[in-house]
This record gives sequence, C-alpha cells and structure tokens, in this order.
Amino acid sequence: MSTGNAGVIKENIEKIKMRVAHAAQKSGRKPEDVKIIAVTKTVDTARITEAIEAGITDVGENRVQELCNKYDIIGARCNWHLIGSLQTNKVKYIIDKVALIHSLDRIELAEEIQKRAERISRIVDVLVQVNVAREETKSGIYLEQAYDFVKEISKYGNIRVRGLMTIAPFAENPEEVRFVFKELHKLYIDIGKENADNINMDYLSMGMSNDFEVAIEEGSNMVRIGTAIFGRRY
Ligand SMILES: *Cc1c(COP(=O)(O)O)cnc(C)c1O
Repeated sequence: MSTGNAGVIKENIEKIKMRVAHAAQKSGRKPEDVKIIAVTKTVDTARITEAIEAGITDVGENRVQELCNKYDIIGARCNWHLIGSLQTNKVKYIIDKVALIHSLDRIELAEEIQKRAERISRIVDVLVQVNVAREETKSGIYLEQAYDFVKEISKYGNIRVRGLMTIAPFAENPEEVRFVFKELHKLYIDIGKENADNINMDYLSMGMSNDFEVAIEEGSNMVRIGTAIFGRRY
C-alpha cells in the first residue's frame, strides 16, 4: 500500500527524467546516457516500490542497516547502491547485495572489500569518492591524491574501479558549485586516458536534487536524487 498522495512519486520521476534529458542534450549526450539513482534514505519500502513501478531501476542508500532492511523486502527488483560513508566492519553485510559502492575513500576499506569479495568469489564495482571542495565535514580523498589512490586500488583483484563520485557543497545557486563538477570531470577524463588495467572510467557520479542539471552539463552520467523524487525527508 502506498502512503501519501498517489501518483506524486511517479509524476516527480517523470519531471526529473525530462530535466535530465534536457541537461544531457545540452551537453551533447542522449538522455539514456545519464543514470538516475533514486536516493531512498528514510523512504519506506512502499514508496520505493512505487518508484520502481514508475521505472526506477537503481536505488541509493547511505546507511548499511537501512539498505539491508529494505533489501530483505525488495531484494533484486532494483540495483542497490551504497552512497554514504562505509565503515570497514560493515562491509560484510552489503558485499553480496550492492551493484556499486560510491564511497571508497581509503585503503583500509579497499582491503576489507577485497577480503569479503574474494570470499564470495565476486568482483565488486566501486567508485572513488573525491572531496573536490576540501570540506572538512565530508569524506573523500583530495583531487591531487586521486590518481595514485585509484592506481593503488586497481591492484586488488576483486575490486573494479568504475569511476569517481563527489558530493558538492550545498549552494542555494548551483552555479556556485559548477567548478566542482568541472574539476572532477577533468580528472575523470585524465584517469581514463591512462588506460590502466582494472580501471574503467565508466561512471561519474555527481549531482543531487538541487544541482543535478549543472552536474550533467559538466559531464555527470550518474545523478543521485532523493528530495526531488520523494519530497522532503523528516
Ligand atoms: C541524501 C544524498 C543524496 C540525495 O540528496 P537530495 O538532495 O535529497 O537529492 C545524494 N547523495 C548522497 C551521498 C546522499 O547522502
């Protein structure tokens, strides 16, 4: 059973898809080149199911416990993304559930992912989180450390680096954070050019409800959208 106003989630998704398509076209790409991750933290499974029925294929959670609880109910009806910071001792709970971990930001975490992935004979896809704006309150490595870090991670046989992720600082006007997206895109292109083994720059995960259009214009191909789909979180 759905809560709230029936059809609102579906309508929101349709609006987001149009805005994504427009921004993609503005940057010379096709609408389907940009993947929408519906961010479902604090959203109940009935509303997540509504989103899936409206065409959402990928869902992002920032907490391990919450992801696991919802996974028990929804299971493989969508792809699960871990988008929040990940504690090393919780890797074991999500390793067999997630399609992509967006928040790899330290070697110690890579070691644990490697160990757990090896145990279940899986290759786990990850993005390296970059703190472009060097905000003290945010995780992620700094831009200038990123290439060496990615190269280091590529040595782990059960981890595949698929791209980069960032969270821009909050800005009333998203134009103020355009430079963040521009810089990460530049790095993404540069790393991609190296053609290193086990590093594939396939995904550039950047853009949230208030800044996703600017992020797409600057090259994002994966946006993480919560509020604009499900409404304000309480
Ligand atoms: C909550 C969250 C989002 C979505 O934020 P909205 O502003 O609600 O779209 C995206 N990415 C991460 C890492 C988040 O924690």
